[in-house]
Amino acid sequence: MTEQTGAQTHEFQAEVSQVLSLVINSLYSNKEVFLRELISNSADALDKLRFSAIAEPALLPAGYAARIRLIPDEQAHTLTIADNGIGMSAESLVKDLGTVAHSGTKQLVQQLKAAGDTKNDLRLIGQFGVGFYSGYLVADRIDVISRAAGSDKAWKWSSDGRQSFTVEAAERDEVGTSVVLHLKEDQHDFEREWRLRELVTRYSDFISHPIELSVKRGKTGEEETSLEVVNRANALWTRPEKEIEDAQYDEFYKHLTHDYEAPLARTHFHVEGTQMFTGLLYLPKRAPFDFGDPEVKHGVRLYVRRVFIMEQCDELLPRWLRFVRGVIDSDDLPLNVSRELLQDSAVVRTIKKQVTRRVLDLLGKIAQDRPDDYLEFWKQFGAAIKEGLHFDPSYADKIAPLVRYETSAETGAENGVKDGFTSLAEYVKRMAEGQTKIYYAQGPSKALIAGSPHLESLKKRGYEVLYMTHGIDQWALEGLREFDGKQLCDAMQEDTGETDKPKDETEKAASETESRELTPLLSRVKSVLAEHVSDVRISERLTDSPACLVIPKGGLPAHIERLIRAQQGNLPEQKRILELNPKHAIVTRMRDEHARAAESPLLSEWIELLYDQALLAEGSPLPDPQRFSKRFVALLQNATVSS
Ligand code: ADP
Repeated sequence: MTEQTGAQTHEFQAEVSQVLSLVINSLYSNKEVFLRELISNSADALDKLRFSAIAEPALLPAGYAARIRLIPDEQAHTLTIADNGIGMSAESLVKDLGTVAHSGTKQLVQQLKAAGDTKNDLRLIGQFGVGFYSGYLVADRIDVISRAAGSDKAWKWSSDGRQSFTVEAAERDEVGTSVVLHLKEDQHDFEREWRLRELVTRYSDFISHPIELSVKRGKTGEEETSLEVVNRANALWTRPEKEIEDAQYDEFYKHLTHDYEAPLARTHFHVEGTQMFTGLLYLPKRAPFDFGDPEVKHGVRLYVRRVFIMEQCDELLPRWLRFVRGVIDSDDLPLNVSRELLQDSAVVRTIKKQVTRRVLDLLGKIAQDRPDDYLEFWKQFGAAIKEGLHFDPSYADKIAPLVRYETSAETGAENGVKDGFTSLAEYVKRMAEGQTKIYYAQGPSKALIAGSPHLESLKKRGYEVLYMTHGIDQWALEGLREFDGKQLCDAMQEDTGETDKPKDETEKAASETESRELTPLLSRVKSVLAEHVSDVRISERLTDSPACLVIPKGGLPAHIERLIRAQQGNLPEQKRILELNPKHAIVTRMRDEHARAAESPLLSEWIELLYDQALLAEGSPLPDPQRFSKRFVALLQNATVSS
């Protein structure tokens, strides 16, 4: 691109056009948000310049004062938002304003297109923020004139927001960016002084840089233009809590996150002591669309004595609290702090501990005071919180009361089950007489676990079972071995100890006979299935099913094993223990067949079938479905012939 040859035309990346039409369609009744978005971008640009200047003071000219200007022009019908921030080079203009940077956004837009669902647009737009393109809510053309810090060249980007944009050389006296909105015919409201004042007060009062509005004063024909600061220009978190209205807190959150929705909750605190710092932290209502993407950083902003240092500073909070957004402003860190320095700073460790505690307290308070909201929150972010049990077991005491699981108990306000979910405390309250442990079972879905044979005798006793369906549950359990003095017990593991009630003499005698009679069959089964199972035993947990596979102590649930194998490939197969129900007709028939002919080939077929059936019953895939199907057909044929 040569600067003399005039404008270069570029096509918007396909996703940009889609984001644009999404913004315009979903926010048409809320057009004024554009001002908040553009002011936020300017404020970020000022913060970035101030930060770069810490290392490179020459970037700031003598007498530099950061500010944002709003310049309405009632003749030209334009509104200009100008800042003297970091600015953009020609390359940045093309990239930042012509492409959608994040792959997650692309996916989201693709999904939206496929769904063709406009009803959800508003919800989705909240997930990825509105940003620069919201200017097209009120403008039919936008020019962006920008000069990057450290450069003496300026560039103009221009587009009607349809297919393409142009970039050409331009003039600009100082470093920074001017966004010129050519207002639509019906949007001239946004040239008016009162309207702009009102919007700044509502949306951007807390921006820590001055926002200057260009105003005209004097008689018609002799007006003079002057600049008036229309915001309070001190950072919101520095103000006393009681002077801040909820709406202002919410607007600040939207400014930080570009979230379209108000946050779920916040906590604002000043810590004095060995470390002095201020925190203003928020919990979002909804997970951002890219929350599950490990590449994407989430976190809070770090300021040092009101100076912006970095975005998404994940050193300030453990990763399992990565949904928290907000600001930490430290009085003690040096201004030229780098990520490396943060990583082994004692100051940061102290802050992190305090902040973690505050967030956990806030979560506890919401769980207590607003249980419905909390459950919705848990459904979005619970998986992240559970990671804390694994990575930071020292917080387990604070995390355990926050955890919610799906459960076998009926939903109902009177028994504390909400939408199928329970807390551990509520579980303990409901425990049956004689029950000493908290039972859980893991599997790929609630339906599969609920129907699995392992739970038969627990259900019969009226013992409740927690359903753990998330991959992280297995690891989270490491930090959650007991709750309220009750051990957590895997219903699918060998030896759950659920039959801790002593048997009476007749029962004992009966089960001894049973096991004596079954012993020969058990060894036959073990030799036929030697490749698949580590042992074969008589089950105490089955009532209706003939067999089930249980996990040896400390072993992995089958679905987790499959998951790890799919990811890493090299996990050696873990053999489980086959349990047989001594009272089941199939098992007694097998016992009799074995007594009739110990080497019976028919018996081998039955044993293999029984093993496959146990896999099916728990929702595991069969190693060889075709063999199963052949055996099954043969069995039916035999059954038909002999009856
Ligand atoms: P977001 O702010 O969420 O990244 P935007 O579409 O609002 O998305 O902006 C895209 C990018 O363009 C920003 O990340 C920033 O790099 C750049 N940008 C926007 N406005 C300005 C500005 N006033 N000064 C400097 N850079 C800007």
